[in-house]
Amino acid sequence: MQSFSFDPVVLPPGIGEFRAQIRAFLKAELVSTPAVKKANSWAVYDAGFSKKLAAQGWVGMVWPKRYGGYERSSIERYVLLEELLAAGAPVGAHWIADRQSGPALLKFGSEEQRQKYLPGMARGEVYCCIGMSEPNAGSDLASVRTRAERQPDGRWKINGQKIWTTQAQRCQLIIALVRSAPVDEKNRQAGLSQFLIELNTPGIRIRPIVDLIGETHFNEVFFEDCIVGAECLLGVEGAGWAQCTGELSLERSGPERYMSSLALFLELLRVAGPNPSEVLRQVIGRTAAEVWTLRQMSLSVAGQLAQGKDPTIEAAIVKDLGNSFEQSLPVLVQSITDSGVRLEDDSDFVQVLTYLLQTSPSFSMRGGTREILRGIIARGLGLR
Ligand SMILES: Cc1cc2nc3c(=O)[nH]c(=O)nc-3n(C[C@H](O)[C@H](O)[C@H](O)COP(=O)(O)OP(=O)(O)OC[C@H]3O[C@@H](n4cnc5c(N)ncnc54)[C@H](O)[C@@H]3O)c2cc1C
Repeated sequence: MQSFSFDPVVLPPGIGEFRAQIRAFLKAELVSTPAVKKANSWAVYDAGFSKKLAAQGWVGMVWPKRYGGYERSSIERYVLLEELLAAGAPVGAHWIADRQSGPALLKFGSEEQRQKYLPGMARGEVYCCIGMSEPNAGSDLASVRTRAERQPDGRWKINGQKIWTTQAQRCQLIIALVRSAPVDEKNRQAGLSQFLIELNTPGIRIRPIVDLIGETHFNEVFFEDCIVGAECLLGVEGAGWAQCTGELSLERSGPERYMSSLALFLELLRVAGPNPSEVLRQVIGRTAAEVWTLRQMSLSVAGQLAQGKDPTIEAAIVKDLGNSFEQSLPVLVQSITDSGVRLEDDSDFVQVLTYLLQTSPSFSMRGGTREILRGIIARGLGLR
């Protein structure tokens, strides 16, 4: 049975200067960004902003210099991420490449793949999407049915369908988890491989899905006799499951897992003014305490990752608690709107609240559902 720990992380000296630099950049860049675009801002696609951020050296900043990175520390990157999210910066274009696709290439990619794609990612110009989920294969990822068949000439033919693929219509690359060998019922995780594929390859069709709020955030991606070269295999044939699971710890542990609704808290503080009612005071105090606790826990996971540890349980706990927080905040704020907060339909506060009430139910689905995370925690603690 494992246990879990959230040891405090002491930020390195000089980090305040870096933070001030980021804040100055964001203040200038986001001066005309509407408040509603600052909510859940890591889902907001803005290629222009990603390129400007990259020009500062802040995309792929921990990667080796020979691939376009800057060899900064992962704690510095964490500080950058929390500043970006706190300011509501539109980081959705490059977020996945910076967070997990680039690191996957560094860990498993061939030299050719690294040289071909990492510098463009670090310039904030090349974006990658995650091709894991399929109809009937979300939580139960091992049941993916998209298959890759090796051709006599060594190339691969891919057929199947991915779904919920965030920003696929605006990315150049996808990392797809596919079945490359028949299912072994005794070990369903075997026989899966990852492929790094350019999305303009013939045989790929992308169909955006309109979500509840009318946005086309995610897509269906169809592979129809799509032929890709042997060089598109990412890592080791048949090792796709282990590679993919490693990516998930990066996907689940960042500050975006508790900061998606922070813009609403900032709006609440603004409309509450200097003399909030007693009810508002209590809500503000409780929320601030919760944000701070989640921040310390999330930072602790970042510290463990920086030390090369595998904080799977801790990351799952932060994501579960963080998602619960960012989902409950809009409902809580809605319940106290008659306690001294003025409601004007077109106000920033109402727009942010309305947007988050509609979109926050998805927060605990993306990146693994609440039930799946609790299963991971329970298994890790030997409780099931
Ligand atoms: C905004 C958003 C963005 C996304 N982006 C991407 C993306 O870019 N790439 C990608 O590949 N996927 C993406 N997804 C898909 C996401 O990973 C899946 O929705 C998620 O894994 C759940 O899978 P599912 O939708 O098939 O639901 P299911 O797996 O069918 O689950 C349905 C319900 O059953 C519960 N359940 C399932 N199995 C169990 C179990 N064993 N025990 C208890 N309860 C269980 C689940 O918790 C859930 O409540 C995105 C989803 C959202 C909402």
